[in-house]
Amino acid sequence: MQFKTIKEINAGLVSKKFSAEELIKYTFDLINENKDLNCFISLDEENALAKAKKIKVKKDSHLLSGIPIAQKDLFCAKGIKTTCGSKMLENFYPPYNSKVVEALDAAGSICVGKTNMDEFAMGSSNETSFFGNVHNPWKKGFVPGGSSGGAACSVAAGLVPAATGTDTGGSIRQPAALCGLTGIKPTYGRISRWGMIAFASSLDQAGPVCRTAEDCSILLDAMSGYDSRDTTSLNLDPTNTFADLSKPYENLRIGIVDEFNIDALSKESQTLFNESLKVFESLGASIHKISLPNINQSVPTYYVIAPAECSSNLSRYDGVKFGHRSLEAEDLESLYINSRSEGFGDEVKRRILIGTYVLSAGYYDAYYKKAQQVRRLIKNDYEKAFKEVDLIVSPTSPSEAFEFGSKGTQDPTELYLEDLYTISSNLAGLPALSMPHGFVNGLPVGIQLTGNYLEESMILNFANRFQQSTDFHNAKPTFEDFQ
Ligand code: GLN
Repeated sequence: MQFKTIKEINAGLVSKKFSAEELIKYTFDLINENKDLNCFISLDEENALAKAKKIKVKKDSHLLSGIPIAQKDLFCAKGIKTTCGSKMLENFYPPYNSKVVEALDAAGSICVGKTNMDEFAMGSSNETSFFGNVHNPWKKGFVPGGSSGGAACSVAAGLVPAATGTDTGGSIRQPAALCGLTGIKPTYGRISRWGMIAFASSLDQAGPVCRTAEDCSILLDAMSGYDSRDTTSLNLDPTNTFADLSKPYENLRIGIVDEFNIDALSKESQTLFNESLKVFESLGASIHKISLPNINQSVPTYYVIAPAECSSNLSRYDGVKFGHRSLEAEDLESLYINSRSEGFGDEVKRRILIGTYVLSAGYYDAYYKKAQQVRRLIKNDYEKAFKEVDLIVSPTSPSEAFEFGSKGTQDPTELYLEDLYTISSNLAGLPALSMPHGFVNGLPVGIQLTGNYLEESMILNFANRFQQSTDFHNAKPTFEDFQ
């Protein structure tokens, strides 16, 4: 069952080729054989087995019934350690389930464990986790991308067919790209953030990481829908993207962004990009040049807004109300200082410092207010562009997976630029998907489709058609350099 899609596993369960219990036992064997990937922070074998024993998958059961999935370790799961990749929450056992956990449980899927991630979802390489680096299954010692690196690794290694991720500036799409997978960040508000540990609340969105667009649609439909516990939840029914996969979206107009300067990419990447455009045309789409004049301001804008929001969200971890408590304290102030100094890693501290600075009375107008104004301009650019085209295409990431420690150690902005193509859709709140479209230096790379608000069906439909005409999503890593 390794490397199979949800649809394929479901067929095996329905035809009784194997039972849900056999499947879960097999999944834990696989996970245990591949511990060196370090993609899980904790496993939940006992509950998973107990649930699997009770499940009888029938023809009319939910497609997720009995399917093993991995949850990113920032979705609160009742009684299961939820760390957010941080020492700060090393011993946090939530008393309730997040909406995402609740919804996927209700659909009958079986959570096998919680995946490793960059600390508080801050990072693009999964190197900021308190629980250590995650390997890219395509090459040991190389990053899987971040922050949902454990999620992408667990699916790319074939341990589970699907995982949840979150995307504040690219954390679903970039690891999906670097691991040869498909991942979608829906429209902001589509999936409830209830019980999802906050990084930057106006940007954070949950979403699936799977092998195919079809599988992503199955998860998205189960995860989405209005939730009164999240005040930014869109008051809409769950998506119906799976049924819409067979809808004929004719003559789609696809935009290429002038400012993304595709000509500056490596020759290999340009060739892959142009070949994919040809596939798009063979599917009946037309290609158009468009301009998003303010798009190149998206990385600096994000790195004001996201730290500002995180500095506020993370103020709750004071060793009293939440989080790690230092044993070294003499009074209240040193308790706060020591608990936070010990509990947070360097990248999180850097973001808190930046965020506190840009929100301070003297600098608020110069940085935070200005960034919010530019955010509006970026949103306006997209609104204008979507009058001319239906989808916008770009690479997902400027490069393929890279070696541990090779980027961002001297200058963190090197890593921040990893999200050059992904960040603007978070700033605008738009849905965007990454899917594999080839290899550079033997490593997978992704292409990104961004749609207008609520157009998840169109994006997944088109990605599914691309995957029916290409084979990149079927490629598997060989694990040659893993023992
Ligand atoms: N890489 C970006 C950051 O470090 C985005 C992370 C994310 O989407 N969670 O903030």
